[in-house]
Amino acid sequence: MVQEGVGRPALVYHPPMHTSALVLFSGGQDSTTCLALALERYERVETVGFDYGQRHLVEMQARVHVLAQLRAGFPSWAPRLGQDHVLELPVLGRISESALTSETAFRLQASGLPNTFVPGRNLLFMTLAAALAYRRDLQVLVTGVCETDFSGYPDCRDDTMKALQLALSLGMDRRFLVQTPLMWIDKAATWELARQLGGQLLVDLVIEHTHTCYLGDREHRHVWGYGCGTCPACELRARGFTAFQAAAPVPAAPIEPATTTPSA
Ligand SMILES: [Zn+2]
Repeated sequence: MVQEGVGRPALVYHPPMHTSALVLFSGGQDSTTCLALALERYERVETVGFDYGQRHLVEMQARVHVLAQLRAGFPSWAPRLGQDHVLELPVLGRISESALTSETAFRLQASGLPNTFVPGRNLLFMTLAAALAYRRDLQVLVTGVCETDFSGYPDCRDDTMKALQLALSLGMDRRFLVQTPLMWIDKAATWELARQLGGQLLVDLVIEHTHTCYLGDREHRHVWGYGCGTCPACELRARGFTAFQAAAPVPAAPIEPATTTPSA
């Protein structure tokens, strides 16, 4: 409330500059943590995912489960969590098929990247997300890209994101803020961020319902969640979880989803 006191300048209330966000949400550990951060910060949060077939069916199912669990388990976040958008991009599947001659497929797989990798894919995702944010009147684009663990994707680097923020803002005549909360932290710190945001309940949710494994493995359950345990994404997630537990020991995650309110 604005009050004018005698001899004092009136207090002027400055509303937060940003109140709404669109989170690029894949159903993985990183984007789920980013979504939790956005729900903590912004009054209105929507999510967008990209469906381009193949192994990503598992991710698409993970998205639905994570959103349902967030709504059910976090009463303070639930009213802020708005519409979920899924954009179908079959063209990406066609590019990865046609671009992968046997030689390039071998090189990509040898480097540890999935053979569905499409150069510049994230540029496309960000552009489509910005177009959607424009139509939905959302101010902040939140993405879980990270330089610390993966340097393989140049379109996920900080410089690229900064250039994109400028290009998207100019190109759509709307001042977007591109937020990358995980850019400079490692996987252990990402687990810790989840704990700080939503307590053990959110850590358990990430373990049980998010999906990271390149092979789409939902059969093998580890202390850090489901996955083949050997692909680069599983190794990264497992290593991060081990370091996270070593730094701040927490009890092994229960399988049953908890129903209490987060303490943090
Ligand atoms: Zn895996």
